[in-house]
Amino acid sequence: MNPTSIATVSLSGDLAQKLEAIAAAGFDAVEIFDNDLLTISAQARDVGRMIKGLGLSVSAFQPFRDFEGLPEPDRARAFARARRKFDLMQELGAELLLVCSSVAPASLGGIDRAADDFAALGEIAAAQGLRVGFEALAWGRHINDYRDAWEVVRRADHPAVGLILDSFHTFARDLPLDPIRAIPGDRIFLVQLADAPRMQMDLLTWSRHFRCFPGQGELPLAAFVEAIDATGYAGPLSLEIFNDQFRAGPPESTARDGLRSLRFLDDEARRLEGRAPALPPRADIDRVEFVEFATDPATGAELGALFAGLGFARTGDHVSKSVERWQQGEINLVINTESDGFAHSHAILHGPGVCALGLAVRDVEATMARAEGLRATTFLQPVGPGELPIPAIRWVGGSLLYFVEADRAGEVWDTEFRAGEAAGTAPGALTHVDHVSQSMSHEEMLSWLLAYTSLFDMERVAQASVVDPGGIVRSQPLVAPGERVRFVLNATQAHRTLSARFIAEQFGSGVQHIAFATDDIFACIRRMREAGLPLLAIPDTYYRDLEARLDLDPALLDKLRRHQVLYDRDEAGAFFQVYTQVFARRFFFEIVQRDGYAGFGAVNAPVRLASQAREIGPLTIPYDWAGLDGTARP
Ligand code: MG
Ligand code: MG
Repeated sequence: MNPTSIATVSLSGDLAQKLEAIAAAGFDAVEIFDNDLLTISAQARDVGRMIKGLGLSVSAFQPFRDFEGLPEPDRARAFARARRKFDLMQELGAELLLVCSSVAPASLGGIDRAADDFAALGEIAAAQGLRVGFEALAWGRHINDYRDAWEVVRRADHPAVGLILDSFHTFARDLPLDPIRAIPGDRIFLVQLADAPRMQMDLLTWSRHFRCFPGQGELPLAAFVEAIDATGYAGPLSLEIFNDQFRAGPPESTARDGLRSLRFLDDEARRLEGRAPALPPRADIDRVEFVEFATDPATGAELGALFAGLGFARTGDHVSKSVERWQQGEINLVINTESDGFAHSHAILHGPGVCALGLAVRDVEATMARAEGLRATTFLQPVGPGELPIPAIRWVGGSLLYFVEADRAGEVWDTEFRAGEAAGTAPGALTHVDHVSQSMSHEEMLSWLLAYTSLFDMERVAQASVVDPGGIVRSQPLVAPGERVRFVLNATQAHRTLSARFIAEQFGSGVQHIAFATDDIFACIRRMREAGLPLLAIPDTYYRDLEARLDLDPALLDKLRRHQVLYDRDEAGAFFQVYTQVFARRFFFEIVQRDGYAGFGAVNAPVRLASQAREIGPLTIPYDWAGLDGTARP
């Protein structure tokens, strides 16, 4: 793997915090941004010592702007500026200056004119043992295509002058990748990597705010790296990310995500090139094997009553712990009311909620090896008498992700649990987990997106913007092949959305709802009502709108209304949804029937969210946010 590098501009914090986070994440090198030196009181020489002390090298110093093609006297001034940068670089221990193509109105075009400027600059740099690299900005005035930048470098024909390639600037202009292969690898001085979502906006705004780590956006980064590898380039792959979320998030976790993205990309590129992969393949999730809830015993009893109302049977109790297994179809819900251990800590910190998910995968050992290769944090808990060690990693919002072998999950249940009542098979029984929906802050969204897609064989499907009465929620579904497993990541910046309230009340991100599938939702609802389970009330206006919108058969419309079912359909088929009331003011369950439908009922979400907002009433938050919505805590 090429040396790994990241630009300081990618992270929040002051320069010292950034450098520490970069070193801790395990990068080899760092690109120092000019601006970062302005915000620290230390001298460049001290910064240089700090970088060395942390075991990092400097992959580049940047940016040096508006250099090439200037007429006199601007040209002389640009060279004087460059000399000052070279002095600073000497102190810093930086050897490569990144020169980005000029946007100056005064700059004149012409490849030869620019080449002459670079040949002269290379001569000055070389005298000090330094080098300069030329990068084509996608919005450069005359040079905005890497092929032109390469032609400048080629004609400058100076050993201290090389090319800098940046995936963002290449993809932003839809430039072909093939010409990269013809560039000699030793003439490329640095390769910068950034991904981005595809958006229609001006290039500068897109670049300065929406770049993200490889794997978090939609650009074909593995194909870019494959073209780079074909040149024989052996220098650093450097992440250069301008992103509002990263600038708002903690530098440590952003840096860790950065390294994870490079390892993920390296593995993807190797696969594309037909070389030996660096990691086992992305893990194949067969199903959600269990969902574990941590809570105190009193709340646990209420939760058990809710599960019973949903048709679950308490099929087992743990041999040695206060842990219950509730089962229906292939769904296992676990209530953990232990007074120590991980679940207990989770319950103390977050209150009642999901502390862990158990995923049935094809190969647990390979899944753990890939997770470790991607720098996931493995979790070990002492194994008690009668327990099996279940491999786990730390996951969203301080939860755990356990892995069990898809075809041997029964062993865990049979070994650790004493059999209780039998699971029934009533009409309309719940069959499996349809999706798990997690709420997180806007800043965390990209991080968890990368975590899921780098570790698991899951693809993103179209993101939806859901209108909550309190603001907009961005909803990103992830789907495993064959649609056996679906996760939905919900992120919000608005304080008063249901997602934000969940995050505030549970003091962190986590599972906000779980959807169970049934083959007969009307039978299911009848059974739940007989069991006395209250469901979320849907206003009549919804059904009048549905009638107007979809021209439904009156009998079906009447049935939906009577059962308070939300409905949608796509080309493939129909979709039916009902919701339980919100439990402990935080999480809830959804029951869905999919007749071929692929989505998540996003069109119904505003109605559901408005009903839930009415149901759970004003905000109650463990700290004083009362001023925000004008209500006091009860
Ligand atoms: Mg760049
Ligand atoms: Mg849902």
